[in-house]
Amino acid sequence: MKRTLKFSLNSANTGKISALNKLTNEYKKAVNFYLQILSSTNKYILSEKEVKSFSSPLSYRYKQCAKRQAVKIWKSWRRNKKKGELPEFDGALILDSRFIKIEKAKASTFNYWVRMATLNKGHPALIPIKSYDYANDYFNNWKLTNGGRLRQENNNWFLLLTFEKETPPKKQKGKIIGIDIGIKKLMATSEKEFYGKEIELLMDKIQKKKQGSKAFKRAIKERDYYVNKTAKELPLDSVKAIVMENIKNIKRNTKKEKRLRKEFRSKFQRWTYPKLFSRVNQLCEINGVHFFAIDPAYTSQTCSRCGFVHKLSRNGEVFKCRNCGYTQDADYNASLNILNLGIAQQSMVAESAKVSQMDICPLN
Ligand SMILES: [Zn+2]
Repeated sequence: MKRTLKFSLNSANTGKISALNKLTNEYKKAVNFYLQILSSTNKYILSEKEVKSFSSPLSYRYKQCAKRQAVKIWKSWRRNKKKGELPEFDGALILDSRFIKIEKAKASTFNYWVRMATLNKGHPALIPIKSYDYANDYFNNWKLTNGGRLRQENNNWFLLLTFEKETPPKKQKGKIIGIDIGIKKLMATSEKEFYGKEIELLMDKIQKKKQGSKAFKRAIKERDYYVNKTAKELPLDSVKAIVMENIKNIKRNTKKEKRLRKEFRSKFQRWTYPKLFSRVNQLCEINGVHFFAIDPAYTSQTCSRCGFVHKLSRNGEVFKCRNCGYTQDADYNASLNILNLGIAQQSMVAESAKVSQMDICPLN
């Protein structure tokens, strides 16, 4: 498994920032120069002569690196069916280990040094980067892959580093739990546990701030931190599988989508679902837990006891079945339906002979 983390390079002094600026400008020009050749010749390769024909203080190595990136962009543009005009390259520089090296700092207030080749041959820039709470585990327990991506956002510089670790095998023992994502509490599980009760408060806080303001960004950050923290509270030690609704696969005009859209528009301008979904997915991967995404299907309107579906069964936080009278916390009821759908889906997968048993989560 792989994870990419972002580090600020803003501790670099002005001289180094200027070196980064010059390097990036030249590099971007080179990529665009090569893109022009590729599109005018309609080829997928560039000759050494063509690579060298770009007149620039960039080293030949850097030119080759820019060429590789140009070919990549060109290929993916060609594959794209809805392509408009070939876009001008203004993205991150994908640099391999010949250009970027990460070294642990000895006695320093910063944790790591980035040694980066610049236009000034033989004089790499040494830029300090600070690790942070979340990143420490990656530096200590994961393997840092070679190279990195250099990205400029407005006037800020970032380095994206990728860490690797062997994916642990999936557990065969433990509980299967369904998780419903809510607005009063971030998660309700089929174990009748509730997580993240402060989420509404944090969302309200975002709403009250002026969009784009510093306070707004701070509130978003606070929410993201809270979502990550809350996801970690899930008792993954005793769990072998988690089932969640896949909002990405949502069919148009389903009730859930309408409900989510309405909530999104009104109270939750920046809904946390995709963030939490991918965070839980990642935690499952690290902990050897199966992760199942089911298509949302009336999970909030279905009675988990008798299966009767009625939109009026749910009233805010309370679920009261119109058929059998079963009364329960609405989110807990939804989480039980999610769990049941997950189990049903897995049974179907298990029946299909084409799928190897190894990939299936044991249901009992
Ligand atoms: Zn019922």
